[in-house]
Amino acid sequence: MKITNIRLRRLRLRLDPPFFAAWDPVPREHFDATIVSIETDEGVIGVGSGDTMNGFEAYTDLFVGTDPLNIVEQVRRIESLNFHAGRFWPIEVALWDIIGQTANLPVARLFGGARDKLPAYASTGELRSPQQRAESALAIREAGFQAMKIRVDAHDPATGLAAVKATRDAVGDSLEIMVDLNQAWRMAGDTQVPHDYAAARRLVEELRDLDVYWVEEPLPYADRDGLVRLRRETGARVAAGEMISSVSDVVDYLERDVLDVYQMDVVLAVGMLRARTLAELAIHKNRVFTPHSWTNGIGVLANLHVGAGVGGGPYFEFPYDPPGWTPRRRDFLLRTPVDIDREGFVHVPTTPGIGAQLDEEACRRWQI
Ligand SMILES: [Mg+2]
Repeated sequence: MKITNIRLRRLRLRLDPPFFAAWDPVPREHFDATIVSIETDEGVIGVGSGDTMNGFEAYTDLFVGTDPLNIVEQVRRIESLNFHAGRFWPIEVALWDIIGQTANLPVARLFGGARDKLPAYASTGELRSPQQRAESALAIREAGFQAMKIRVDAHDPATGLAAVKATRDAVGDSLEIMVDLNQAWRMAGDTQVPHDYAAARRLVEELRDLDVYWVEEPLPYADRDGLVRLRRETGARVAAGEMISSVSDVVDYLERDVLDVYQMDVVLAVGMLRARTLAELAIHKNRVFTPHSWTNGIGVLANLHVGAGVGGGPYFEFPYDPPGWTPRRRDFLLRTPVDIDREGFVHVPTTPGIGAQLDEEACRRWQI
C-alpha cells in the first residue's frame, strides 16, 4: 500500500457565545480544527486531527509514495519534522486509521485491547464562582459522571479553593474531584510566572485535605525536584505531562519517579506509538497513564484508543463544561459527538480504525 495524497482542511467554528477557559488569556470566539485525510492507492482513506498542522504543506512530499502500514518508519518521519517545523501527530492518527481499517480492527485493539470503555471525568475549563461550580458539579453527577476536574486560577487561588470546597460540600463522596493548577506550560503570549514551591505546597495540602484525587501541574515541567518533593511531603497524587513533547524527558521523569499520573496527549505531545511505549513503562512501575484529550472529537478518539488500548485510567479526560463547552461544540466535525453512557463510561468505537465519522456538511460550512 502507498500513500497517494495528503489533504488538509482547515475549519473555524464560530463560538457564539464565546468560551473563556482558565488557560486562555482572552475569551475564545473561534474553535479551530484541521482535518488530515491520507489517501492510498488501495482506496483506504485515514483521517486525523487534534492539532493545527501549521506549516505541514511544505513536507507533504516526504510522505507521498511511502507505505502507511510501516508505522515505525512513519513515526520517525514525523519526529524528524518536530525539530524543523512542528508537531504533526494528526498524521499518525490518520495512519493508524488506515492500519485499523486494513486490519479490520479498532485501533484500541492494536494498542493492546485492554479496555473497551473507561469512566470519563468531566474536565471543566471555566473559572466560576464557588456556588456556580458546586451547581455545575451536581449537574455533572446527574449526567452520570463519576468524576470531574476543576481549574484553580493562579491569580486567585482563594476563590479556586473555595470552589473546590463548595463542590465537595455539595457532592460529598459521590463524585471524585481532580484539580488542575495549570502551572506547567502557557498559552502563546501568556508571560505569567508560575507558583513557587512554597505556594504550590500550601495549595496542594489544602486540596489534599479536601480529598482531591489528583492535583495536576502544580509546578512547571522543569521543576522535577519540586514535583518529587511535593509528592513526598504532601502525600497527594500529582499528575502532569500533557504537553511534554520530549520522549527522553518523560523517560527521565519515570526514572526519577516524578509523578503519580502521566498525561501525555497522543496528538499534542508525543504521538500514539511513543505514548504507548511510555504508558507501558509507567504502568509497569505501578504509575498511571491517562492522556490529556482537550482537543476536538478526533483528538479525543485518538487519546481514547491509546488510553483504553494500553489499560490507562482510572479515569479518561472528557472535556465538558456546559453551556460553554459541550460535546456538540467540541466534536462539531463529527456526525455524532463522543458521549458517555448513563454510568459515566466513554466507549471505544467498535468500527475499524479510529471510528471518526465526519460530518461533511459541518466541514463544508466551517471550512476556511
Ligand atoms: Mg491539564
